[in-house]
Amino acid sequence: MARSPLLAIDAARIVDPLRTFAPGRLIIEAGSVREVGTQDNVRVPSSAERVDLSGLTLTPGFIDPHIHGCGGADVMDGTYDSLNLISRTLARHGTTTFLPTTVSSGEDVLSLAVEKLGNLMSKVFEGATPLGIHMEGPFISRMKRGTHKASNIVPPNAEMFLRWVQLSNRQIRLVTIAPELDGIDQLLAAAAQAGATVAMGHSNASLAEANAAADRGVCYAVHTFNAMREFTHREPGIVGAVLSDDRIFAEIIADGVHVHPAAVRTFARAKGKYRIVLATDSTSAAGMPDGQYVLGSHIINVSGGVCRDSEGRLAGSTLTQDVALKNMVAWTDLSFEESVIGLTLNPARALRLEKKGMLEPGADADVVALDEHFMVVRTYVGGRLVWTNSK
Ligand SMILES: [Zn+2]
Repeated sequence: MARSPLLAIDAARIVDPLRTFAPGRLIIEAGSVREVGTQDNVRVPSSAERVDLSGLTLTPGFIDPHIHGCGGADVMDGTYDSLNLISRTLARHGTTTFLPTTVSSGEDVLSLAVEKLGNLMSKVFEGATPLGIHMEGPFISRMKRGTHKASNIVPPNAEMFLRWVQLSNRQIRLVTIAPELDGIDQLLAAAAQAGATVAMGHSNASLAEANAAADRGVCYAVHTFNAMREFTHREPGIVGAVLSDDRIFAEIIADGVHVHPAAVRTFARAKGKYRIVLATDSTSAAGMPDGQYVLGSHIINVSGGVCRDSEGRLAGSTLTQDVALKNMVAWTDLSFEESVIGLTLNPARALRLEKKGMLEPGADADVVALDEHFMVVRTYVGGRLVWTNSK
């Protein structure tokens, strides 16, 4: 599917995502958005190839900062073929940008993984684009480790982190830490030096500890509620900080398994449409039938689409972002347009991806076409058609 220099796409609706144009027209030139608006207001350039997607809704491509794998492949493999399989599988579900996410592992295993992944970031993939690495752990709380093995968790170590930054070719874009741990200040300084965003998660932080971390710039939270100190009304803990601090962008795994739909609704009301990140935490089992899969060095068993490790703990998800969007609209007060912000603009802002997450002139032409059932019909990455299920 070759890159077309100039495309004019007509759709029933374009959600950019802050404005809606209906019926909409999107002009794509050389991989970027040239113009977007209503069909009355945007002229079709005479040399453009016309694409008729009437009946469909266009949104910016989805951005997922938290992907361990999908389609049977695990990011820790660190091979082009694995990452490309993940890239292609994600595109079928509307995801156009993702951060391959490592799990806590021994230092040597992580060194090898970040080196391999870092080298792959300059390659071209057939679907979604990997744009940096998310290191989930190993500087997390043993008390809230989730499926991360206790033996792989180590105290914050800025030197070790900076070695990974080097090995990855400075491709670490996000690092999840428990902010209450000793030695976190040096790690925050190292992350700032590396240009990485810091997330709080797998944490037993109190409200005061999490608030203090936000004051120091830790304004992202991974899988809110999961692997966090529980919320209570007298010590709201890290969950209370995430829910009440408007600076914090917060992931939610909206699969109905990790978090109850009523808790997702409560979360949406607390965070509001501009701070929600609809991440998936997907494993290699996403997009695959039930069975046995890997997550890093773990074996996980998948039954009814739910991933559990050998201890019976939840171990990532089989969620995809198209389904997360559908669930958000079904479970919360947010409209379709408002929910789309959580898959597009919010993760782009949280990760400082300036040309992603919106369809305004100059933005990368990463575009998803959805039908009324949230089915992804087409996906474009940089103006290139990478997925279609057109009948
Ligand atoms: Zn996790």
